Amino acid sequence: MERGNISVSTENIFPIIKKSLYSDQEIFLRELVANAIDATQKLKHLSSIGEFSGELGELKVKIALNKEAKTLTISDSGLGMTDEEVKKYLNQVAFSGAEEFLKKFKDAGNKDEIIGKFGLGFYSAFMVASEVEVISKSYQEDTEAIRWTCDGTTSYTLGAGTRETRGTDVILHIAEDAEEYLEEARIRNILNKYGKFLPIEIEFEGEVINNPNPIWKKAPTELTDEDYKEFFKELYPFSDEPLFWIHLNVDYPFNLTGILYFPKIRQDIDPRKNNIQLYSRQVFITDEVDQIVPDYLMLLQGVIDSPDIPLNVSRSYLQSDSNVRKISSYITRKVADKLHEIYKEDRGKFEEKWRDISIFVKYGMMTDDKFYEKAEKFCLLENVDGNFFTLTDYKEKVAANQTDKDENVIYLYTTDKKNQDMFIRAAEKKSYDVLNMNGVIDSHFIGLLERKFEKTKWARVDSDTVDKLIVKAEEAKVEEVEATEGEDGKKKTKKKKPAELVLTEEQENKLKETFTKVITREGMHVQVDKLGKDQLPILLTRPEFMRRMKEMAAMGGGGMAYMGEMPETINVVVNTQHPLVQNIIDQEDGSELAKQLYDLALLSQNLLEGKDLTDFIHRSVEMLQKG
Ligand code: ADP
Repeated sequence: MERGNISVSTENIFPIIKKSLYSDQEIFLRELVANAIDATQKLKHLSSIGEFSGELGELKVKIALNKEAKTLTISDSGLGMTDEEVKKYLNQVAFSGAEEFLKKFKDAGNKDEIIGKFGLGFYSAFMVASEVEVISKSYQEDTEAIRWTCDGTTSYTLGAGTRETRGTDVILHIAEDAEEYLEEARIRNILNKYGKFLPIEIEFEGEVINNPNPIWKKAPTELTDEDYKEFFKELYPFSDEPLFWIHLNVDYPFNLTGILYFPKIRQDIDPRKNNIQLYSRQVFITDEVDQIVPDYLMLLQGVIDSPDIPLNVSRSYLQSDSNVRKISSYITRKVADKLHEIYKEDRGKFEEKWRDISIFVKYGMMTDDKFYEKAEKFCLLENVDGNFFTLTDYKEKVAANQTDKDENVIYLYTTDKKNQDMFIRAAEKKSYDVLNMNGVIDSHFIGLLERKFEKTKWARVDSDTVDKLIVKAEEAKVEEVEATEGEDGKKKTKKKKPAELVLTEEQENKLKETFTKVITREGMHVQVDKLGKDQLPILLTRPEFMRRMKEMAAMGGGGMAYMGEMPETINVVVNTQHPLVQNIIDQEDGSELAKQLYDLALLSQNLLEGKDLTDFIHRSVEMLQKG
């Protein structure tokens, strides 16, 4: 038996590593199983090229617990090691890996980043074992089995071992402070986490725990829709069926396979949820893919498998890695192409799914210019009638009737079809089209489209009175046109009569004063305007700019947080052409009527509540009784 010292420059490397890796201890099993699989696959490869002519036999990797002996053993029938190889690979390679780790660990600013992201390989066994024993027999003829032991210091023993067949047993004598790894449930749990799709069968307690041929490794032509759906269920047992999926498969300039699913996205989805699982050669690595996959793609679910993503490095390094960047843009392109393909092949189907995928597409367009360029072709706008338009089609559709005097095309939209119904109807009366923009990120998306499309502006239907939503050239104002349906069903237009009543300045001021007195909310401003006899006496509008500023602030717009706290800006537009408003002008004190009209306006916007609402109801009943 040979005794020796492992050449590491830092004498007390062991306890340091043991301690520093504590938080992610369990990866030792992933590393050892990955080694066993490597050894098995190497043997298969040698066999396939004729370098190994013996029987391959059963190639399972077996994991066994022995509670009495306090050991956990990982066995493979791979290519094994000769004593020379043990010296080279375990004494030198494995330990130099550990040394390198320590160096990086010492230099790293953020130690947490390194811990657990660094594949320590064989060496990680010492995180849980007080002694590691390796019994191995090489596939090469005329070689003897060996036995290597190391107790977690820098000294080792190497001598003859007893093993009849080719392969390696790594026997971990579990340390006292790591006895959880003698529990069956704990081991099963780790194996399930990292090993579900390992490429070689893994047997634990007499049971194969993995699926060595996951569908992402197969050719798309071999697979049916059912296969994809079933696999999705396997990954996410409690989710709804996915909308569609993309099978990724590329060899050059990097190697990557995988399947990405478009889930039914609920409005409250959190993009930072760990939706995508990252594998390297079928070994689960992490579900924290935020550096590898662009943010908006994190709404997708599924699997990415690439041996080319460096895993043993810190996260900040990942961002600058060129492979990672290529992978990220490849995925972006594939996703955009797939969406475009569905759009072109079956627009109806695409429209059906639009509500589920729109948040994803919009998010992508907002954060990634490349994606925007592609998505511009299939991004849809939906109007209140449930019709869908591409961005350019829509602009064409509304340009004729919704261009203002400054040549801006005005896009009208609603964020709440029910609550803004009154305004939508008013717009429709003018034959304006109204878009439905009630998604969580729509206010940001509107900002993006305004920047991208020159000479366009967006205005919510309640941002002003309907005549001012789209201010047309001066002549059109004098000759206000009203669209009506003729008896033959054809649209006819007739000129509106000019307003008869003109208020004196004194009357106007009195009116403003009366209404200002009855206002109950902060942020309200009284305006007087001629809205027409057939319009309501009072209309509450919310100026577009102020509303948007407030929304941005509420969504966390940096230094504008104070704006989020500010009361909403609401204009109380008093319609001087309404007979009831004229009543108020004629009365000595019109405040009771003004109050009633004001409350009605609040009520129409769901703004009347509490005592104000109760008082309003009582007052209304009294008024009705008075006749
Ligand atoms: P890595 O796997 O990254 O090379 P490790 O520290 O995990 O580093 O292992 C060092 C080397 O030891 C491996 O490259 C391999 O040659 C050898 N080795 C480890 N485990 C086995 C095994 N089960 N069978 C054969 N060789 C092994």
